[in-house]
Amino acid sequence: MTPLKSEDWRDASLSSRLGYAAGSLDRMPVQRMDPAFIAAEAARPDRRVVVFSGDAPLITAEGDCLFRPEMAEALGTATHELYLGRQSDLPVFARGIEPEPDAGEPSHGVASDLRMLAIEGSLDVSHVALLGLAKSLLSWHRRHGFCANCGARSEPVHGGWRRDCPSCNTEHFPRVDPVAIMLVTDGDRCLLGRQPRFATGSYSCLAGFIEPGETAENAVRREVMEEAGVQVGEVRFLASQAWPFPSSLMIGCHGNALSTAITIDRDELEDARWFPREELVQMIAGTHREGLKVPPGISIASGMLRHWAGTD
Ligand SMILES: [Zn+2]
Repeated sequence: MTPLKSEDWRDASLSSRLGYAAGSLDRMPVQRMDPAFIAAEAARPDRRVVVFSGDAPLITAEGDCLFRPEMAEALGTATHELYLGRQSDLPVFARGIEPEPDAGEPSHGVASDLRMLAIEGSLDVSHVALLGLAKSLLSWHRRHGFCANCGARSEPVHGGWRRDCPSCNTEHFPRVDPVAIMLVTDGDRCLLGRQPRFATGSYSCLAGFIEPGETAENAVRREVMEEAGVQVGEVRFLASQAWPFPSSLMIGCHGNALSTAITIDRDELEDARWFPREELVQMIAGTHREGLKVPPGISIASGMLRHWAGTD
């Protein structure tokens, strides 16, 4: 059972063109439930391993993120070993390590930063997607070692795609945190805001976590009202992006504004404004007269803004 890949249906969606999205991994969702299958995959000498020290992916001296098994083992003691699936028919595992003092010299692996790797474009995009998945899954295991129901230590099963509690039999699945992120427009202008932590001059789409009992559409309306005091009517899905910091799912929507007066929530935003489309084009091109700009090209905010501006 091989899942369809983007090339099978010529996926031209915006989602498929965003950072961390171009995965060609077959997750082997049925086979991975069989411990004998996982053991056979782990015994294959041609398997590949991505290695993380904490949240930092390790990169080979050749600039690759896929280690041969013996190289991965030399980097440090494994805290977690997870089965990701197959890429180009090779089994791929994720290994979380505790670095040892005498290991990890530059010839073996250099700690890197996943955001920087994605922005720089030095790695193949499918490898960036693979690292994003590995980072989210390893992070979940590090933070969820104990059963949330009874407090007993839980055990990974299915190659690491589930944790089971031996005490109360609760099954725990890797968490994904949905975030609504929205391009709100009023005719030919769009609503952007900036948080104090943003780079100087940078404006982006508003966003917020979706709450229990809430649709993505209502989360869009609530967040925009909370942060900017603008009422939103019709909301349509545009694109989504797995965002591995640590495990968000960004759900990108377009919202039609029903009101235009802005009331800024100063706890959330430093500024919010309506930007005419031609001004947005300048921000994307880096030619804005005030030096204003939009986020880097790998983010869904950037993807949605470029799409709307007609510059993608
Ligand atoms: Zn339990």
